[in-house]
Amino acid sequence: MASEHVYPSHAERVEQLLAAGGPLPIVTAGDPVLRSGAEPFDGQLGPALLARFVEALRVTMRAAPGVGLAAPQVGVGLQIAVIEDPATGPEEVRLARGRVPQPFRVLVNPSYEPVGADRAAFFEGCLSVPGWQAVVARHAEVRLRAVDEHGHAVDEVFTGWPARIVQHETDHLDGTLYLDRAEVRSLSSNEAIAARWAQPTPEDAARALGFELP
Ligand code: ZN
Repeated sequence: MASEHVYPSHAERVEQLLAAGGPLPIVTAGDPVLRSGAEPFDGQLGPALLARFVEALRVTMRAAPGVGLAAPQVGVGLQIAVIEDPATGPEEVRLARGRVPQPFRVLVNPSYEPVGADRAAFFEGCLSVPGWQAVVARHAEVRLRAVDEHGHAVDEVFTGWPARIVQHETDHLDGTLYLDRAEVRSLSSNEAIAARWAQPTPEDAARALGFELP
């Protein structure tokens, strides 16, 4: 005889998460929620709960700290992500990577497509894969379509580091981790990055570790 499993709704799950207050626990690689592909957002959270959830995502992203956070990373399988990058760090690095300040944004049901054929390869990391970074060759420029937290359409071209953030977070909603797209031989601990691979570009790392750059 089949027993009926009753799963909590997204709204119940979010209420539960928010009840604890403060930054939300971040789910790490190995949890199926990061691999399942999130449901398109279609009002599963009412406006007030959505606003509270978005605020909790922002608090969690800043506390981590990170430059983006997708709902599955806190165990919620909805297509919602937040991004924000103050773009700190050495100027030489920021210039090489196109790292410019990205104001806080909410991406609901995002999708992207490349603009042109240029690719950019840099080390990146993920709050759900703590302690590690790897080089990912990504589209240098993408067109993002989404809606914002108020349901207004977004159709915008991103370049530089913001284009990387947008791709990374949108991929999360699709069940894709940056490691799926990474040069596996570039995988480096944060300690190795700090000691050896803090250069503006990963060319030295590519030579020493033996991986290709576009
Ligand atoms: Zn991530």
